[in-house]
Amino acid sequence: MPGELAEPTGVLAGVDPADGGFAYAPSRESTDLVAIQDRYGLWIGGEEVEALSGRTITTTNPATEEPLAEVAEAGPEDVDLAVAAARRAYEDGWRDLPGRERAKVLYRVARQLQERARELAVLETLDGGKPIKESRDIDVPLAAAHFFHHAGWADKLEWAFANRTPSPLGVVGQVIPWNFPLLMAAWKLAPALATGNTVVLKPAETTPLTALLLAEVLAEAEVPPGVVNIVTGGGATGASLVSHPGLDKVAFTGSTTVGRQIQESLAGTRTRLTLELGGKAANIVYEDAAVDQAVEGVVNGIFFNQGHVCCAGSRLLVQESVAELFLDKLRRRIATLRVGDPLDKNTDVGAINSAEQLGRITSLVEAGVEEGGERWQPACALPEKGWWFPPTVFTGVSQSSRIAREEVFGPVLAVLTFRTPEEAVAKANNTPYGLSAGVWSEKGSKVLWTAERLQAGVVWANTFNKLDPTSPFGGYKESGFGREGGLHGLASYVSLGRR
Ligand code: NAP
Ligand code: MG
Repeated sequence: MPGELAEPTGVLAGVDPADGGFAYAPSRESTDLVAIQDRYGLWIGGEEVEALSGRTITTTNPATEEPLAEVAEAGPEDVDLAVAAARRAYEDGWRDLPGRERAKVLYRVARQLQERARELAVLETLDGGKPIKESRDIDVPLAAAHFFHHAGWADKLEWAFANRTPSPLGVVGQVIPWNFPLLMAAWKLAPALATGNTVVLKPAETTPLTALLLAEVLAEAEVPPGVVNIVTGGGATGASLVSHPGLDKVAFTGSTTVGRQIQESLAGTRTRLTLELGGKAANIVYEDAAVDQAVEGVVNGIFFNQGHVCCAGSRLLVQESVAELFLDKLRRRIATLRVGDPLDKNTDVGAINSAEQLGRITSLVEAGVEEGGERWQPACALPEKGWWFPPTVFTGVSQSSRIAREEVFGPVLAVLTFRTPEEAVAKANNTPYGLSAGVWSEKGSKVLWTAERLQAGVVWANTFNKLDPTSPFGGYKESGFGREGGLHGLASYVSLGRR
């Protein structure tokens, strides 16, 4: 009815609509486009097959706790079949296919991802809990961009590596996490395929569905059978994949703990390895920064994807002279974030991916309080069903406290202050990680001075979380080694002979 405001489907944190705030009309994305099967098998040799293991896992919608589907759990015998299928596809033609032919296949994948973008975005949000505006505007378009970018390289590899002869490595085992399920699959698959390798991919246990829909997309794009095989399951499936003797390379994205185990198990073998692990990025705000822009950047840096982001700006380092003003504006901005139904197009912060992850976040936040940090959260009613955590800011944090050192992987920001640029750099680098960092200042020379000294694989200046297929992404120190994206990423999927 005109004049009558509908109840918001998300919750506008901190602002009571009845109290002068304004309510948003619900704007829920339809799920009609998505057909979810009750059961999924494994994707091996270009077809869906039953798992020999006979076991299944259930994937759930974290916003409702409702089960979405039963998915096969691959055992070692299934992983064996997938690796064998990848080896056959490699030797039977994919490695010898001219680059221009591989390029055509990858272009078709990219276009098909665009064609089915809406369906993929809705499924990503249903299975993982991220806001639809993020899966729609970031995850899916970037996944397509990765295939487009690498399709462009497939027939130009000899120019990419001047005076060298690039050749594929063979069969690659790839394990990905649950925070960007489709995008991480694209990051892994596109460079591997462009360079003539074949793949066995394991998606995360809580978010297998977009990888399985991607299998359908790959078939539509006429990726030859066996070039990509998808084995679903949990950590045990991942472990049997990465330790399989039939692999020439392992590419892993996930926690530093598991990355370390994989590195130990591959030590002394001929299998190549790249690791993309955790992070605890500093977002440095100098007193001369454009304050409102920096506030937006800090909010994006930590609350994007509920903070389930390895490169999240989880430590704010703000110059003491502007700290009070900055924190005041920051809290006011955070109070306007809408937390709730991930399918609502107005939602800023969606559901926490799993009960297990919610437990991790909750216990680290409790540790932060016990260690003397001051916790601030906006007034924020959370939905009753599902897994949720309100946006959280910790001040009075010391460098040694757990909340400043450990990766929370949730919507939790730790605030520290500094007086001089030297102190900012020293604090920013005081972490075992080194994946990303941000610098906010009006002065280009100060930005460059700072960026040069930061031990981080990516440094963003006056922006944050900008990801692009042309730009290499990866870590220093315990954030791993190897790069994904750009020429550097391509290089880790080829061996380079001398001409
Ligand atoms: P995780 O346990 O390391 O899981 C990552 C992937 O590895 C999942 O597919 C997981 O399977 C699988 N896995 C688990 N144990 C394994 C083993 N022993 N051998 C082989 N594979 C195994 O990480 P998580 O806790 O789920 O995810 C959050 C962590 O990932 C955070 O620490 C975050 O920083 C990191 N991460 C890093 C990046 C990056 O680009 N650097 C990106 C995203 C996330 P199941 O999940 O099915 O058990
Ligand atoms: Mg799920």
